Formats: sequence, structure tokens, C-alpha cells
Amino acid sequence: MSTLSTTSPARTLFIAGQWRPAASGAEFDTLDPATGEPHARCSEADGTDADAAVAAARAALHDPRWAGLTPAGRARILWRIGDLIEEHAEELAALETRDQGQPIGIARAVSVAGAAEHFRYFAGWVTKISGETEPVSVPGVFHYTRREPVGVCALITPWNFPLMIASWKLAPALACGNTVVLKPAEQTPMTTVRLAELCQEAGVPSGVVNLLTGGPSAGRALIEHPGVDKVSFTGSTEVGREIVRAGADNFKRVSLELGGKTPVLVLPDADLDAAVTGALLGGLLNSGQVCAAYSRFYVHRSIADAFAERLAKAVETLPIGAGSDPATQLGPLVTAEHRNTVDTLVRTGIKEGATLLTGGAPVPDRPGFFYRPTVFTDVHDDMRIARQEIFGPVLAVLPFDDEADAVARANDSEYGLAASLWTRDVARAHRLAHAIRSGTVFINMPNPLDAAAPWGGFRSSGWGREMGRGAIDLYTEVKSVWTSLD
Ligand code: NAD
Repeated sequence: MSTLSTTSPARTLFIAGQWRPAASGAEFDTLDPATGEPHARCSEADGTDADAAVAAARAALHDPRWAGLTPAGRARILWRIGDLIEEHAEELAALETRDQGQPIGIARAVSVAGAAEHFRYFAGWVTKISGETEPVSVPGVFHYTRREPVGVCALITPWNFPLMIASWKLAPALACGNTVVLKPAEQTPMTTVRLAELCQEAGVPSGVVNLLTGGPSAGRALIEHPGVDKVSFTGSTEVGREIVRAGADNFKRVSLELGGKTPVLVLPDADLDAAVTGALLGGLLNSGQVCAAYSRFYVHRSIADAFAERLAKAVETLPIGAGSDPATQLGPLVTAEHRNTVDTLVRTGIKEGATLLTGGAPVPDRPGFFYRPTVFTDVHDDMRIARQEIFGPVLAVLPFDDEADAVARANDSEYGLAASLWTRDVARAHRLAHAIRSGTVFINMPNPLDAAAPWGGFRSSGWGREMGRGAIDLYTEVKSVWTSLD
């Protein structure tokens, strides 16, 4: 099948090794955010398709072509998926840019490279997923543990980094021997469709990887499905709550990567140029559509005005345009609805008394969903732009006088995904890193991710840690085996 087909019927459901239309025949378009025009047509899955996908995944759990593979055999398949992603890097990057809007350089260096790296990293883990022999004190027994697959995993992903986030989940799920149903966001399904094709090409047996394109109702059918053992979700905190409730009936394993409102502490001894550059990279990557986007800048009052002015000047120099143009640094927002949400929050900031230094409106006179990068200063902690995740190119400067007070204000949030610190004093940097309540702290740098570094949040930013060895915990059950030696 052609993933870019705009003909009907679209066949973007992948169930038991077959590409199919939705049972209902329903379809939807996915748009190019740079133009607002449809660029591909997808099948819209519902509960009937979810039943079929879950049944295929359950059957594949016991298929000897998968369950009987040696760890080395499974590792080779994961490595091959990484290779295929790399072989198709240019095509995947162009597709991600068209579907999501991100600048092509980001699609290449972050999305596609990050996806390939995840498969390679977890290919390495497959032959190291071991149990332990425990020093139990019961006499005359031998005790050991095994790590076994959790079972059928529903992998539900958001629209900001579709290929990469699908890979964060799919690579460890397969490494641990699970079977999966992928459900990409309805706004940006196309690179996940292509990823499923590459899995097939890499030799993943049919039924191990299944894919449903569609919206919230397809996701809901999976989270409520009794045949799903685990849900791994990245998306909004609100939907995360619904998943926890839906999973309660059959005690599904649930891991959640949710929203964030990353605080950035700029201390009076910070290298101001570096902090401004870090703010641009950390705050405006993918037009701020990043869960860990730097958004609340607590800046010492002695340098707050200088920081805000430099930041405002710097954002004005960033080339805005279609992601396919290599010169572009700021692409469009993902949809018109999302741009309206960002704009409404900006209007609220103005109404609540924050000072708008630059931006604050959609880019005029062009198609697509572009928004001007926006800098506010004189922001107070109780304003909505200081509390609510915006997920757009909006940076807020909040002056502080006292370090301990700044930490308390940074921690006063429902979120706890990431934080950033800027200081030249190494003792202060680590003291503050320990005091901040978040899953990750970046010191004097922007916010990269790596397959080896645990990723996840405190509080309402989620449950569990993806990446690193923590991901192996998420996708395995531990079994205790006791044997009498008498
Ligand atoms: P979203 O929660 O609206 O949607 C995410 C996915 O869930 C989509 O596939 C969607 O179709 C599906 N979905 C929606 N309602 C559902 C329901 N009731 N039941 C089951 N599935 C449902 O999120 P979004 O708008 O696509 O993404 C933006 C959010 O994702 C932001 O809050 C952002 O912070 C978060 N995010 C977090 C991380 C992280 O690592 N913590 C990474 C990226 C994005």
C-alpha cells in the first residue's frame, strides 16, 4: 500500500499483518500544517477494529514465530528496524514535516535519528533482560526471578513528535517480547503508519505490531478493552486521568508521560548569553510543542529586564516558515484549533496584566497555522500563562529576589516533568537540582533526550520512566520461582 495515498478507501489499519480500511468504512484527512490543506487520507478505527487488533495481538503473544524467538533473534529484528529507519531517513523526515509541521532539520536530527537510536538501544537490552537469584532465608530452596512480557500493550501517542514517541514505546515493548496495538494521534498518523510497514519489512511476525489510525474513540476502545494488559500513553494530563480510571476495572498496567510547565531558574551569576540561547533552543524547539519546553523563566531581578529584552530581540530573528524550507527555524503549530488555544492563552495573559514584549498573534497573511514567537515579562505566579501548559511559542519571564523563594515558586505547579538551571556556581547548581521536584533537571543547557537517560515526571506529569533500564521495568512482569532442593 502507499502510505501517501489520498485515494479511498484508505487502508491505514494494520491488523494481523494485513493493511485494511476501517470496518465501518469511516475515513479522515490529515492536514499539512504549513498550508492547512489535506495531504493524506486515513481509515478511522472504532471499537470493532480495536477488537480485531487486540485479538491479533493476543494470538501473536503465543505464536512460536514470536514467543519462540531467541533473545538474539529478537535483538536482530530490533536492530534491523533501526537500520530501516535510517535507510528511509530522508523520506521519513519529509513525511514528518508534512504531517506535523516541524522544520526538516529537526525531523532529521531529532525525530528520525531519535527513533533509530531507540531501536538500537533496546536491541542491545534484549540479551540483557535477566532475572536474579535472591538470597531467600527459607532453608532448602532455590529461588530465582524471571522477567516475562506484560502481554498486549496499547501504545497511544500524541502529535508533537509522532515517530519518535511511538519508538520510545514500541522499541522497549518489543525488546521485552510483548505484542502491541499502536494508536497514533489523529492529527499526525503518517510516520507511525510507515513505521509499522518497516516493522513488517524487518521481519516482525504478523500480529505482533498492529496499528489503528483514528481519534479519541479508537483510543478509548483500547483503554477500556479487557484484552489489553498495559496502556502506555503520552499526551495530556486530562486524558491520562481518564486512562487511569478506565484501567482500574481489570488493573491494567499503566505508564503515563503527561504535560509539563518547565521552570527555568536564571541565577544572578548565570552566563546571560548562554541562558538566552538555551531559552531559544529549549523553549522554541518545534514551536514550543514539546512537553518539556522551557516556559516559566524565573530570572533574578538584577538581570530580569536585560534577559527579557535580549530574549525578545532574539526570538524576532528566528526565520518562520514551512518546515520543508531548510532555512526555517519556527514551523507552524499543528492545527488551527491548537493555534486558537495558544492565542486564547496569550490574550488571557494580556488581560491579566502581563507585559507583552513581542509576538502575541498569528503570523498574518499566510496560509497554515503559524504563530509569532511571544515573550511576556512581569508575569505573576497566579496568571494562567504561568500555570497552564501552553504547548506553543510563548515564553514568560517572572522576576525573583530570593533563591529559596524561586525554588518554592518553581515547585508550586501541578506538573513536575523537567526544570532548567543557569548558574556558574557548581555547588549551587547541584543544591538547586536536588531541591527541584521534577523528573529531569538540565543544568546550563537546553533539553535533549537520550534513549539511555530515564524520562518521566513527578506529580501530574505522569507515572513511570521511559528510556533507560526503567523502560524494561515498564514492559515486563517479574515472576518469582521457588524450587525445593530436598
Ligand atoms: P491528547 O491527550 O489530546 O492526545 C494524545 C493521544 O490520546 C492521541 O492519540 C489521542 O487520539 C488519544 N486520546 C485522546 N482522548 C483519548 C481518550 N479519551 N482515551 C484514549 N485515547 C485518547 O494529547 P495531544 O494534544 O495529542 O498532545 C499534547 C499533550 O501531550 C501535551 O499535554 C504534552 O505535554 C503531552 N506530551 C507529553 C510528553 C512527555 O513525554 N511527558 C511528550 C509529548 C507530549
